[in-house]
Amino acid sequence: MKTAIFENIKCNLCGSDDYKIIYPARYGDIKPQELVDKFRSSGDELLIDRLVKCRRCGLIYINPRIKQEMVLKSYSEGTDENFISQAKYRENTFFKALKYIEKFTHKKKGRVYDIGTAGGSFLAAAKKRGWEVHGSEPNKWLCEWCKKNYGIKIFPGDIFAHHFSSEYFDLVTLWDVLEHVGNPTKNLKEINRILKPNGLLVVNYPDIGSWLSRLMAKKWIFLLSVHLFYFNRRTIKKMLNKEGFKIIKIKPHFQTLSLGYLMFRMKTYSNLLHKIGMPVIKIIGIGNLQIPYWLGQTLVIARKIDKDKL
Ligand SMILES: [Zn+2]
Repeated sequence: MKTAIFENIKCNLCGSDDYKIIYPARYGDIKPQELVDKFRSSGDELLIDRLVKCRRCGLIYINPRIKQEMVLKSYSEGTDENFISQAKYRENTFFKALKYIEKFTHKKKGRVYDIGTAGGSFLAAAKKRGWEVHGSEPNKWLCEWCKKNYGIKIFPGDIFAHHFSSEYFDLVTLWDVLEHVGNPTKNLKEINRILKPNGLLVVNYPDIGSWLSRLMAKKWIFLLSVHLFYFNRRTIKKMLNKEGFKIIKIKPHFQTLSLGYLMFRMKTYSNLLHKIGMPVIKIIGIGNLQIPYWLGQTLVIARKIDKDKL
């Protein structure tokens, strides 16, 4: 394998480079370009990269990995019709989730920033609930889709592509995003800067310490090449605390998708289930049935620590 596309990294939580290997890489004769191409907005190829665990703090991550400038470029290109087909279901999930989050803002609505917003389904739900919405998304096609379908203009790129003034937002959200970014602590530092004192940060991530993940081990559905970091409750808490946040709620998070789409996504996981399930769903016409599912997704609500009060 050409080393030109790879980079070695230190632990993003504690800076150590002392790790043990959990799963070795299984690249076989895959071409370097194919590895880069896995990074699409809804990339779902099973993990074949080397997974390691920091001996000092326990953070689990992919190392070595594809160079981050190549990853971001890959995310920015291409279309994603499958993701968009689920926009309505995502809006419903987000609408309910935001209603819950508002318990922690004392029902106050303000300015929200959704990072890696994809087609902007969360922003559409937030707008409906009376929030002033802002978003960013690396994929240019999804940015256009969001503008056309929701009338919401979002910034192309990651959190560093657009500069907001300090203490600008009441709420920042990362829905299934933190595990994809190249440098989570750097992202959290920037989020801390743009949040108002006592502002809220919401992170949804797949928890590798959840009972389901532990039960499924190597077969856990969220072990994907696009997921660069694998948090559990302990490591997410440690990282958030380190970057100036206090967790006020952590709980399992159910998401909703259509049965047809779930079955479609099953293909990478179980070809047999896909082959049997797809025709059955079509025949009885239940492809659009809304299915709540939980496979280890975890919702964290954290508050920016007000340094003046320390
Ligand atoms: Zn570490």
